[in-house]
Amino acid sequence: MKRYFACALQNSGINAGLRYLNRSRTKILLYHAIVKEEQFNPSLDPADQCLTDEEFERQMEFISQNFEVISLDDFFNSSRRTNRPYIIITFDDGFMNNYTVAYPILKKYNIKASIFLTASFISGQETLWFLGLESELKKSMRNLPFEEFKERVISLKKNAPTRNLYRDKQDFFQPMDWNHVRELSMDPRITIGSHCITHYPLNILPEKELREEICVSKTNIEANLGKKVDYISYPHGIVTEDVTRIVKEAGYKGGITTAHGFNGSSSDPYRLKRNEIGNRGNLDILSSVISGSWDMFRWGAPNY
Ligand SMILES: [Zn+2]
Repeated sequence: MKRYFACALQNSGINAGLRYLNRSRTKILLYHAIVKEEQFNPSLDPADQCLTDEEFERQMEFISQNFEVISLDDFFNSSRRTNRPYIIITFDDGFMNNYTVAYPILKKYNIKASIFLTASFISGQETLWFLGLESELKKSMRNLPFEEFKERVISLKKNAPTRNLYRDKQDFFQPMDWNHVRELSMDPRITIGSHCITHYPLNILPEKELREEICVSKTNIEANLGKKVDYISYPHGIVTEDVTRIVKEAGYKGGITTAHGFNGSSSDPYRLKRNEIGNRGNLDILSSVISGSWDMFRWGAPNY
């Protein structure tokens, strides 16, 4: 249904009009796993985190032809000015296919991108607690008291076989290792940021754990890359006053949520808005998301 709306929005010129009105503002897009079309299996992606390489390439070609893709540093540096609307491409979590599948496509179209790493996932110490869970279950766990949340995570690890999927080399949710990340970080087009240590929802963490997630992830990634980490993407997009206070103290220049919308010079740098791209978005939907018409209807990620 949304696909037909998106097609109507595109054909009616609404998207083009909004794009013109919002031309000096910046839209940040969020991707997770990019998987080979022939390997994609929707039943292994209950939380809609995968987009196929073919769709991703169509999207990158469309974006490179119609928009100015900038980095987070460019966004914070006011000297940038062109006549085309701005886009920032981001990836969360640190999946291996960001390196093997997405990166070659980014290079082909000379596109800048930021990749936010969950530090314990990259180090191979932990899987992501929500992998293999349905979206509703994942959401329902985000507001549990911290101790109860931890107990649930431990029992999920024991009981759900799909949670070990990432150990399979073919799996969509295998993490990069530090060698991949180091190679990516050498490319001036790529910015590496923090997505905390465990990917636990920050709103339920006591102060000590919150500090560790925000500060230790930064120093850990910096130590592994030999480079400064200036940006953080909040796990599950969740941010609180305590979170922004500690993020500022830790020395980050900016933080990214998953609240939909545009960003501009008056945006709070620690609550930047971002639109998630779901696992089936066609170009009409992508154009609607980028123009802002998708946000007007308060639709979620385009995973119809
Ligand atoms: Zn994430």
